[in-house]
Amino acid sequence: MEIKIKLKPSSALDQFDFDQFQFGKAATDHMLVADYADGAWQSAEIRGFESLSLSPLSMCLHYGQTVFEGLKAYRQVDGSISIFRLEGHWERMNQSLRRMAMPELPAELFIAGIKKLVEVDQDWVTDREGFSLYLRPFMIATEERLGVSISREYKFMVVASPLAAYYSAPLKVKVEKHYTRACPGGAGMAKNGGNYGASYYPAYLAQQEGYDQVMWTNSRDHEYLEESGTMNLMFIIDGILLTPPTGETVLAGLTRDSLLQVAKDMNWSCEVRPIAIKELQQAFEDGKRVEAFGVGTAAVLTPFKLIHMEGEDYFPYVEEDAKMYLLKKKLSDIRLGREVDPYGWSSLIEVDLVK
Ligand SMILES: *Cc1c(COP(=O)(O)O)cnc(C)c1O
Repeated sequence: MEIKIKLKPSSALDQFDFDQFQFGKAATDHMLVADYADGAWQSAEIRGFESLSLSPLSMCLHYGQTVFEGLKAYRQVDGSISIFRLEGHWERMNQSLRRMAMPELPAELFIAGIKKLVEVDQDWVTDREGFSLYLRPFMIATEERLGVSISREYKFMVVASPLAAYYSAPLKVKVEKHYTRACPGGAGMAKNGGNYGASYYPAYLAQQEGYDQVMWTNSRDHEYLEESGTMNLMFIIDGILLTPPTGETVLAGLTRDSLLQVAKDMNWSCEVRPIAIKELQQAFEDGKRVEAFGVGTAAVLTPFKLIHMEGEDYFPYVEEDAKMYLLKKKLSDIRLGREVDPYGWSSLIEVDLVK
């Protein structure tokens, strides 16, 4: 599949202020757009970023056939650019698409398309410490028809937006015992838009009570911890790294997977198993040192400084010498090429170093 390239005559980069911007409000110069119809991908093009024109009858506006991904490109210490876990994101996007009865994406479109887009907009990948270029691939149903049925037309797009190094301030989280993010047989394992829309209200209620975010529990009896917000959950209790298994109700995060691999290779004890609220409470009550944090592409690792559960507040360890920061640093060193990447996680793209 050929990806056409129509470059914009001028760049908006010199008007972009890397010292002061809000994430996600500005896109780079270009975007990738591909259209699906008649059972096949028809065309793919990288062109100037612009608004879409959509019929109000477009099915994505009504019935929720939308899927997205989020990944990052980094400027490595030697000036090259790498995209982190590109293949993993491709596989997961296809897994989400299958669940939503949407057509899968061939590697020539997802992998080659994203590499090409980053290559075209490479000057947007700054070498400022901790910055990255956030990439947002997504697909929407575009058939024009007010009937509840599988759309026969789709648009796949990729847009990119600079992301600053942000210090993720420790959060206060509330263990959610009523609302559910995902249930067995549901679509929680897919990154489809509806899952996020449905999580706003419980998060809003938690914020009204003074918490930053909810910690989701299993739908059946709300006794086991699953995720927090849109991050996977990890704990370090008495030096052991714990995380719930992924599956139908816990999204298979690539940050989680990467951190777990890195921890194992540092010879940390790791346990992937269900974690009950009771077990976590007991650990606090026994006076064990508990580190608790969310992990995901956007912030990589977000510590929790307060967990509200069963009517009580508990305080995980967030001091500077917490082990979770070692884990974060190790992953960051691999991503930035400060350390060799033994896993093949970094996809390098063609960089014009002369520019
Ligand atoms: C995207 C996402 C994650 C994190 O996945 P990463 O691949 O690490 O970014 C975790 N949970 C949910 C619900 C998500 O949507």
